[in-house]
Amino acid sequence: MKPTIDQLQEQVNTLKAQRDAQVTDQPQAVIEALNRQIIDLQNEITAKIVEGALPCVNCGNPAHGLRQNAVIKNSPIYMFEIGCIHCKDTRVQDVSREGAVAKWNQTHGAA
Ligand SMILES: [Zn+2]
Repeated sequence: MKPTIDQLQEQVNTLKAQRDAQVTDQPQAVIEALNRQIIDLQNEITAKIVEGALPCVNCGNPAHGLRQNAVIKNSPIYMFEIGCIHCKDTRVQDVSREGAVAKWNQTHGAA
C-alpha cells in the first residue's frame, strides 16, 4: 500500500529529528544523505498533494502543492495550497486536498 501524506510527513519529521540530533558529531556525508532522503520524501508529498491537478494554463508547468498547518475556530487543521511557482497570483487554498485541486483546475488549470 502506498503511504499517505501523513505517513510521509511522519518519516520527514523523524529524519529531520535524526539529522538535527547528529548535525554536530556526524560526517557531512551522513547529514547530506539524510537531507537527500528528506527532500525525496517532501517531493513525494508534493506529488500527492497535486494529484489530479492540471498543468498551469499560462505556462504549462506542473502545479505545485503544499500543506500548511492552520487554525480555524481554535482547532488545528491543514490548509492545502496549489499554485504555479512560475506565474504570479495563481495560488488557491482549501481545507481539503480535493477542494484545492478542484479550485486550481477551475481557475488556472489547462483545459
Ligand atoms: Zn504558470
